[in-house]
Amino acid sequence: MSATSQAGFVTVAGHRVSTDHWIGGERLTSAERFDVITPIDGSVIAQVAAGGASEADAAVRAAHAAAPGWAAIGASGRAALLHRLAELIDQNVERLAAVECADMAMLLESLRLRVIHRAAANFRNYADLALAYEERDWHSKGTWNRVQRMPAGPAAVITPWNAPFMLSTWKVAPALAAGCPVVLKPAEWSPLSCSLLADLTAEAGFPPGVFNVLQGVGEQVGAALVSHPLLRRISFTGSPETARLIGVSAARNLVPFTGELGGKGPLIVFEDADLDAAAAKAAGQYDDAGQVCLAGTRLLVQESIRELFLERFNAAVDRHVLGDPRDARTTVSPLIHPEHLERVDGFVQRALADGQRLLRGGRRLEGLLYEPTLFEPSDNSAEIVQREVFGPVLTFQTFADEDEAVALANSTAYGLSGIVYTSSMGRADRIGRAVRAGIVWINTFLVRDLTAPFGGVGISGIGREGGNYALDFYSDLKTLQILDGSVR
Ligand code: NAD
Repeated sequence: MSATSQAGFVTVAGHRVSTDHWIGGERLTSAERFDVITPIDGSVIAQVAAGGASEADAAVRAAHAAAPGWAAIGASGRAALLHRLAELIDQNVERLAAVECADMAMLLESLRLRVIHRAAANFRNYADLALAYEERDWHSKGTWNRVQRMPAGPAAVITPWNAPFMLSTWKVAPALAAGCPVVLKPAEWSPLSCSLLADLTAEAGFPPGVFNVLQGVGEQVGAALVSHPLLRRISFTGSPETARLIGVSAARNLVPFTGELGGKGPLIVFEDADLDAAAAKAAGQYDDAGQVCLAGTRLLVQESIRELFLERFNAAVDRHVLGDPRDARTTVSPLIHPEHLERVDGFVQRALADGQRLLRGGRRLEGLLYEPTLFEPSDNSAEIVQREVFGPVLTFQTFADEDEAVALANSTAYGLSGIVYTSSMGRADRIGRAVRAGIVWINTFLVRDLTAPFGGVGISGIGREGGNYALDFYSDLKTLQILDGSVR
């Protein structure tokens, strides 16, 4: 794929993208740069500024300086700008989708039709929620009481490389709506679409310093960012390993921190389920090359329907088209990066060496493509069952009854999501309650009302985002008490 660049800019898929930071309403550069490759053909498409401690300091100081003004314009002033930003995102869908497709190889059609609009919806939703977020008033003990919300102050938002634009907006939208200026640090494997978000905030008229983008390598600029003493909130999406490091920095400065982390979700299919729907959804877990934290990567199927399910599942997987994410026929795209391909293949090779039974796939294909792979593990403690692969690799296990299904579902350290297929209301309720996860879908997947909470249990997360839960996180609450009759 060809990309042209001039100082601080690159043209990707025909669109001009800044490769510098966005700090205090200006593009600032760094002497050091890092290469960004496109998973489509592995070529370098950009060399992006690699910030360090001084850039992190500049970004947090810019956010800190902008905080009083951003708080003072109030929820309605902020809502007007968030609505304007949402409109601009919708108007720029083609540009955002094309750049993100080149950057991380998410399917272009999916970006154009769904993912980028969802990002716009996040800004609209939070503009409206923040306006409706009422203070509580009541009378007690001879005083008038009022709970007020104060914007917490500068927030760091650190995001992973999968779905970088949309995932960043889950955090950026509530933080801005609650009155917190943001420093966003996108992942170094897919930093370009978030650079476009900076341009759109400028076009929407956001004051300088309210939204900042800090580019660079996690261990360098990310670590410097999260240890900055002027930060008041840290919101992270990524791996549990990185969350532990960030949690230490947050603890040192006593800064509240949320982490949306990895997953190893069960997809449970009961004998009373609509088997075609369940098998199609199971095959759909290979979408985006399985690089989806919420994916149901452990297929748990009732013993009585083992063969019937596998037959339908295999037929559905056979219909997948692996290839170029810009092609509307493609359903499974390449993995993000050669290092990630090695990681995914490492899991497969270790599972094979460990004697786990391979039911299908298990091979690298051209470029960064990897065959949709299914293992039937001999032992639930096998690494391939217990650890997140974050690639097109699923496991298949059977269960006899509800108790065994729940025991298997809850047998990993993760707890982000679960998917259940059943036609029984009672079973849906029992299993829905029993699965230990932040979200459980019954007979569906990936739909979430934006006002519902989102997060994980176990090593899948700390805290909740979504709806007012995120507004609570980005606010400091204050109780005001006025002695009766003391003021007029
Ligand atoms: P990662 O933890 O390697 O990196 C995430 C971000 O943290 C990147 O921006 C990276 O630069 C930064 N980072 C790395 N080291 C840092 C440090 N020491 N200090 C500060 N920042 C640092 O994760 P990844 O490989 O980019 O993403 C994949 C992981 O993210 C998977 O585990 C996946 O399940 C998870 N994920 C979770 C959700 C969710 O909502 N729960 C969504 C998407 C991805």
